Amino acid sequence: MRIGIYPGTFDPITNGHIDIINRSVLLFDKVIVAVTTNPSKSPLFSIDERIEMVLSSTKSLSNVEVDSFDDLLVNYALHKNATAIIRGLRATSDFEFEFQMALVNRKLSNELVTVFLMPNEKYTYLNSTIVKEVASFNADVSCFVPEAANKKLLEKFSAKKTKHL
Ligand code: ADP
Repeated sequence: MRIGIYPGTFDPITNGHIDIINRSVLLFDKVIVAVTTNPSKSPLFSIDERIEMVLSSTKSLSNVEVDSFDDLLVNYALHKNATAIIRGLRATSDFEFEFQMALVNRKLSNELVTVFLMPNEKYTYLNSTIVKEVASFNADVSCFVPEAANKKLLEKFSAKKTKHL
């Protein structure tokens, strides 16, 4: 059984993440989308909210599992019997950080391979930060994120607006 781990913050999940998941399921028997609990990124959404959005957006994919982790990624992946870490690669801006992380992870464990997948070019400009920025002005982001994330963004920013009134 080939297991791939797709780790990330998913704050929130976007259509770019979904694109990578759809490609990953063709390569692995099971893909675990692992949502990090690491608070250093100060996520907008709680870990439960982020997991819930990933779950609802991937429910049609039977070989996708959703989990959270707070361990060192390599230890978590080995504990899950994974053979690979999956990362998305967009433009050159991703490269330096991803290169560093892949090499450090390789040093930590030779058993794990990092696999980079490129999304459809229409998602190469997309990340969760820009989606949150646009949504914070109550602009429509439904073309960038799955339905479940769009709903949560609307709820989050309308609640914030009401709080400020
Ligand atoms: P992290 O904090 O680990 O970067 P993210 O949720 O931002 O978490 O991203 C998780 C993974 O998904 C990373 O490998 C990132 O490069 C990839 N990713 C994010 N957005 C896109 C996108 N639009 N297209 C392809 N891959 C993406």
